[in-house]
Amino acid sequence: MECLQNLIDGQLCDAQNGRKLSTPEPATGLDFAQLPDSDAADVDAAVAAAKRAFPAWSAASADARSRCLRRLADLIHRDWELLAHAESRDSGKPLHVARTVDIARARHNFSFFADAATQFASESHSVPGQLNYTLRQPLGPVACISPWNLPLYLLTWKIAPALAAGCTVVAKPSEVTPYTAFLLGKLAIEAGLPPGVLNIVHGAGQTAGAALVSHPDIKAVSFTGSTRVGAGIAAATAGTWKKLSLELGGKNATIIFDDEDLDVAVNEVVRAAFSNQGQICLCGSRILIQANIYEAFKARLIGRTRELRVGDPLDATSDLGALVSAAHFAKVSACIDRARADGGAILCGGGPVRISGRCAQGWFIAPTLIDGLAANCAANQEEIFGPVATLLPFTDEADAIALANGTPYGLAANVWTRDVSRAHRVAERLQAGIVWLNCWMVRDLRTPFGGVKASGVGREGGWEAMRFFTEAKSVTLVY
Ligand code: NAD
Repeated sequence: MECLQNLIDGQLCDAQNGRKLSTPEPATGLDFAQLPDSDAADVDAAVAAAKRAFPAWSAASADARSRCLRRLADLIHRDWELLAHAESRDSGKPLHVARTVDIARARHNFSFFADAATQFASESHSVPGQLNYTLRQPLGPVACISPWNLPLYLLTWKIAPALAAGCTVVAKPSEVTPYTAFLLGKLAIEAGLPPGVLNIVHGAGQTAGAALVSHPDIKAVSFTGSTRVGAGIAAATAGTWKKLSLELGGKNATIIFDDEDLDVAVNEVVRAAFSNQGQICLCGSRILIQANIYEAFKARLIGRTRELRVGDPLDATSDLGALVSAAHFAKVSACIDRARADGGAILCGGGPVRISGRCAQGWFIAPTLIDGLAANCAANQEEIFGPVATLLPFTDEADAIALANGTPYGLAANVWTRDVSRAHRVAERLQAGIVWLNCWMVRDLRTPFGGVKASGVGREGGWEAMRFFTEAKSVTLVY
């Protein structure tokens, strides 16, 4: 059993109340790690440490901050394999996904914002006799709260820009997948981050998380998680004047037009639907297919999906691993049952997968395709966040856009067409923060990241993130 600790003021420590939470390994269902069940007292200590560290860290040169971030990137690079194993066992995702997506990206987050720290600039507008410029100053101690699906990737996506901008951080990783955040805390000590610059407090959302967002010395909350919890954070912080960035759920459309090469598109469409067991906020879980190619593409989709291998996440041949928890397994199973009851036809998958050996008690579900459902039924409207995708036909461009926009969410979409004009036209009209044309999940970290409608407010990525963690002040000199 791994015993995890908080990082507060440069020291690893248990929760002051001595209590611990347990997390199981999703692939086996067996207890795997114990983490501090932190509460308001630990959050107070972490925020106090972040407040003490802020004056020196915010005054440090961009070069000095950049060097710290670079050292963290290098240490992640050194421990790549160890971190990938930890993430795979903690979250149930295939080891190769942890290696090539999560850890690769965590390292890149630090190296990208190590560069950004030295390149960050603000605007100046001069007219004869007058100089106007924008001073961007770090906010102070900020909260970074992340979910369980891409644990180290999303936590570092927040921590890195906050530190680069000169803020100090209290991070609250998901209690469901805490292991790599604990390892990051150890690396932060090794990298020589000054005490209090980065604090990591483990624990439940309702206790540690709630205490953190409502702490009066926290100047901003950068949150990624469910729309329900995000709405609660917006309500809890109303009137406190904290800055908020909320990255929430999605019900993303994949749109396939009839001029697309179906054999090319099918591999990426299946990857978009089922990567990380469908537990990526950006997964294309509603597959909209132009009616005249519906049957042809459906057949390809079923064929490719049936080839996916569900198995032990540590086995290199597994395409899909386990769902993250028993509760999430039950939720996704209930969504499939509901779709069936609503008249959906299960084209493939549709239930649990039994794996023999070490994973006999794990939470595995077969990649599932469903069609025959109305656009307004639960499976087409609510986020399932599992290996389940629905298929819907559309007639023309306008119909595709109406269907894609017809949910409360607006995070991402991917569009497949060889017609470049149409691709741009559709991208413009989609209510989504991120649109991929003839690709999925290709990211340039300089571009903004975030959703519209119930998928959130605020933008992460590149300068947007650096700006979020600073206060803009307008200064005018008349001479
Ligand atoms: P969640 O909302 O249950 O938890 C997210 C984090 O918030 C966890 O660390 C949790 O402990 C904490 N939390 C819970 N209650 C809190 C409270 N009252 N105050 C403060 N913190 C609290 O989400 P989850 O189940 O971990 O993650 C899955 C969800 O995250 C999905 O809806 C998915 O779409 C979304 N997500 C969004 C993005 C994005 O970029 N938009 C990325 C990944 C995941």
